[in-house]
Amino acid sequence: MSIDKNSAAAAAPAPSSNFVRAIVESDLAAGTHKREGLPSVITRFPPEPNGYLHVGHAKSICLNFGLARDYQGRCNLRFDDTNPEKEDQEYVDTIMDSVKWLGFSWEQGGQEHLHYASDYFDQLYEMAEYLIEKGYAYVDSQSAEDMSRNRGNFSTPGTNSPFRNRPVEESLQIFRDMKAGKYKDGEHILRAKMSEDAMSSPIMTNRDPALYRIRHAHHHRTGDKWCIYPMYDYTHPISDALENITHSLCTLEFQDHRPFYDWLVDTLADGGFFQRPVPRQYEFSRLNLTYVVMSKRKLRALVDEKIVTGWDDPRMPTIVGLRRRGYTPESLQLFAERIGVSKADGWIDMSTLKGALRDDLDPKAPRAIAVLRPLKLIVDNFPEGELVECSAPAHPHHPEMGQRSFPFTKELWIEQEDFMEVPTKGYHRFTPPTADKPGARVRLKYGFVVECTGYDKDENGNVTAVHVNYFEDSKSGTPGADNYKVKGNITWVSASHALEAEVRLYDRLFSDPNPDAGGKDFREVLNPNALETVTAYLEPGLRNAEPEQRFQFERHGYFVADRVDSQPGKPVFNRVTTLKDSWGAK
Ligand code: ATP
Ligand code: MG
Repeated sequence: MSIDKNSAAAAAPAPSSNFVRAIVESDLAAGTHKREGLPSVITRFPPEPNGYLHVGHAKSICLNFGLARDYQGRCNLRFDDTNPEKEDQEYVDTIMDSVKWLGFSWEQGGQEHLHYASDYFDQLYEMAEYLIEKGYAYVDSQSAEDMSRNRGNFSTPGTNSPFRNRPVEESLQIFRDMKAGKYKDGEHILRAKMSEDAMSSPIMTNRDPALYRIRHAHHHRTGDKWCIYPMYDYTHPISDALENITHSLCTLEFQDHRPFYDWLVDTLADGGFFQRPVPRQYEFSRLNLTYVVMSKRKLRALVDEKIVTGWDDPRMPTIVGLRRRGYTPESLQLFAERIGVSKADGWIDMSTLKGALRDDLDPKAPRAIAVLRPLKLIVDNFPEGELVECSAPAHPHHPEMGQRSFPFTKELWIEQEDFMEVPTKGYHRFTPPTADKPGARVRLKYGFVVECTGYDKDENGNVTAVHVNYFEDSKSGTPGADNYKVKGNITWVSASHALEAEVRLYDRLFSDPNPDAGGKDFREVLNPNALETVTAYLEPGLRNAEPEQRFQFERHGYFVADRVDSQPGKPVFNRVTTLKDSWGAK
């Protein structure tokens, strides 16, 4: 039997390949991580619960959970909670919510693969004692200044600490006393000794990295049990090994940490603390996105300085912010798929994210009409108090989504920009009659053809209303409609039936594509027009919009009913994005 290549490919689109997938596939072929009762691919997503997740984390989540999904593996959610001062349950909760919302789960076969590095504190401590006993770690009692000076730098090798060769028994005793609370913060520190000459390693992170420090601090999960806390670089490889992680994926800045990672898991596997094969670390480039800051410190500053309304402000690149803005989980997954995974450092243009968003929303979002900058249109020859029901497809390409209907009445709202007293060349919307020309004929979309007869102005010269007459036999969808040839097709809503609603028009938060590059202060490149709030008139059916329901407002873009501020029968809308790209490189 022959298989049509094209149709086979269409039936099962292969996830686009990348270097990580290539490694996983070659490991699967070689059986590298084959172990009894365990999947051959186990990844993890390891956030520190010290802030809200952002779109960069979404890349990492889609990568780690995506690999597990595609290779019948598992992905653990692990909180890397080794910094008691900065961490909080609030962050744990939002991180779990965000991962779930993105469409992933750490539950498999009825088992929760949810872990906390703090659950390993006892084991981590036990392993530290083992390393001391084996001569692989020692307590350093230098001052912080001496320690920093003796570390050397990229061009100068480090100098051994005078405490480096203190007897094992002495290190062990001090370490136990550190744990017992006999010392103040910073008095001693436990350091690794990977090799005799490690302090002159060209890789700075090999120069006797710190394993434990004293911190008399309350931990959000372990309370006051500990006053020494393990360092991230020590905790992470061990957590990976304890969880039988196969492929430990991290961002490029950890490349230099890999020799220590490998040494640590290897040394402890020799000590019988875990089985081989041990996990392997692979690095990929982090996401940098134009017009966005992603450092947790800067995001926090935006919140603390009230530049935005909170972590979930729709202008924030946080996952809660993107969600509130109206992004879908699918659009973020699509974005992650499109940007791929590589080792090349670079910037992703905001238009790539917006493109994924539009491509996801276009086929799903029902259409609706909204008038954002209203101008009254009066149909002088239409009877007062009457209405004609008009209808339109919910989606132009998906008849199965049904029809929507809305009334045509004597007074309507149109966009201000749809009328020009003195038209410019090529303007096909409303223009008044002149001495030698009748007023413009325009179709009110899904309604009637009307002809402009005049307009009203107030004492300041502002146009307050446009007058038209309608042609009764010109209704869209009736045979008479074809008798009228018009160039303009204009959106409108009935003034007496429209839903008046608050609509928030969001734009980029920064006016500079690289808001924090080159030592710039991101506060200086804030876009003052990042939010405009208007009172708009919407198609009446939108009254029943549910929070987080998304629509395309014809001409204007995609909008979502705000999940926080919408009330039953009184939705508030956020602009998710405009219809066309305005982000591309200029
Ligand atoms: P911190 O400076 O607090 O460590 P972080 O952004 O690295 O900040 P983590 O909570 O440690 O935050 O990140 C969890 C995971 O997300 C890590 O594996 C990290 O590599 C990954 N990650 C963070 N930022 C990005 C990014 N911009 N692109 C891709 N992955 C990222
Ligand atoms: Mg980190």
